[in-house]
Amino acid sequence: MPDSAARPLPANLRPRTLMVRGGTWRSSHGETSEAIFMNSGYAYESAEAAEAAFVNAGSRFVYSRYASPTVNMFEERLRLVEGAEACRSTSSGMAAVFAALLCQLRAGDRVVSSRALFGSCHYIIAQLLPRYGVHSVFVDGRDLEEWRKALAPGARAVFCETPSNPTLELVDIRAVAELAHAAGARFIVDNVFATPFAQRPLELGADIVVYSTTKHIDGQGRSLGGAVLGSADFIAGELAPFLRHTGPALSPFNAWLLLKGLETFDLRVRQHVENAAALAAFLDAHPKVERVAYPGLPSHPQAGIAERQMKNGGSLIAFSVKGGKEAAFRFLNALRIIDLSNNLGDAKSLITHPATTTHQTLSPAERQMLAIGPALLRLSVGLEDVADLKEDLTRGLDAA
Ligand SMILES: *Cc1c(COP(=O)(O)O)cnc(C)c1O
Repeated sequence: MPDSAARPLPANLRPRTLMVRGGTWRSSHGETSEAIFMNSGYAYESAEAAEAAFVNAGSRFVYSRYASPTVNMFEERLRLVEGAEACRSTSSGMAAVFAALLCQLRAGDRVVSSRALFGSCHYIIAQLLPRYGVHSVFVDGRDLEEWRKALAPGARAVFCETPSNPTLELVDIRAVAELAHAAGARFIVDNVFATPFAQRPLELGADIVVYSTTKHIDGQGRSLGGAVLGSADFIAGELAPFLRHTGPALSPFNAWLLLKGLETFDLRVRQHVENAAALAAFLDAHPKVERVAYPGLPSHPQAGIAERQMKNGGSLIAFSVKGGKEAAFRFLNALRIIDLSNNLGDAKSLITHPATTTHQTLSPAERQMLAIGPALLRLSVGLEDVADLKEDLTRGLDAA
């Protein structure tokens, strides 16, 4: 970035301040809110200046597929919030997952991953990587013995989501990081469900964190985006050239929305979590609910891991109603506030029936292995008044 018209920020600012102030760069106009630089290209004062810009790569902006001011501001703010050495953004969460893996893999490598994954993450690892000669191995992410066995022959990369989509299973980040490092692998954690508000994988030993910023970081269902965070060496040496030459760049407009999203992130996610904790307890006690999975409840089968690595239970709840698919559909069709939507991390509460939507393409055997039953529902708790949400759930449960 060129010199900013902003005063330099003091060192050691706290996360809430960094979410509002971090990364801000002011143009010569001195604007308060970050400006949106939509331009794709840059002009040089002279032929010598153009030559110098290419000789000293990174000394100034040359093309917005590589870097641009609004996008850089967002990357710097998220980097500060996550406490990472470096951050690069992408056009979607899937572009972030794909780039984080592909930038470092080559034919003959092994990738070990937990089985309970977002559908597209599963597709990349199970379907796409083997086409390019990468061996992928899936394990039950809850079972350290399976991780140990799968990592014994060595690996290049280890991948997991924790909590997982949609069943909210947990992976012990610290333990798997140790096994991954002993196997010579880098450990990538998809931290979308937890958000940086609940879990800090880099502090627990992970090497790389990926986000779909489409979710809580935007938080209002307005933009697609993604981010990869990790060491300066990894980002500059492996990820940045991959992104530069393959081109999944984040739109500057979306970067601006995400900058605004981070400004209210702490307030929003705090309320999401408070609402979710109340609704999880409500569902857990309801006679028509068969089972609730929420990492903030003592009834979560891995409550000990949640306690160790998460600051709170997050804003997603998985639960099953009694009575199978028919009851689940009656429940969904009776709701009047909570939207039926496969998205998550929105101010609006959203609910989905994974077996028939997000995880429909899996075989019945795969669904069974992942505990995605016919009555399972995934609720993304929003920012509405929790009393109204309880009434809506009651409406659904009465009809179930
Ligand atoms: C949504 C999601 C993604 C993909 O993000 P997009 O922005 O939709 O591409 C990846 N991982 C998890 C856990 C998600 O929830």
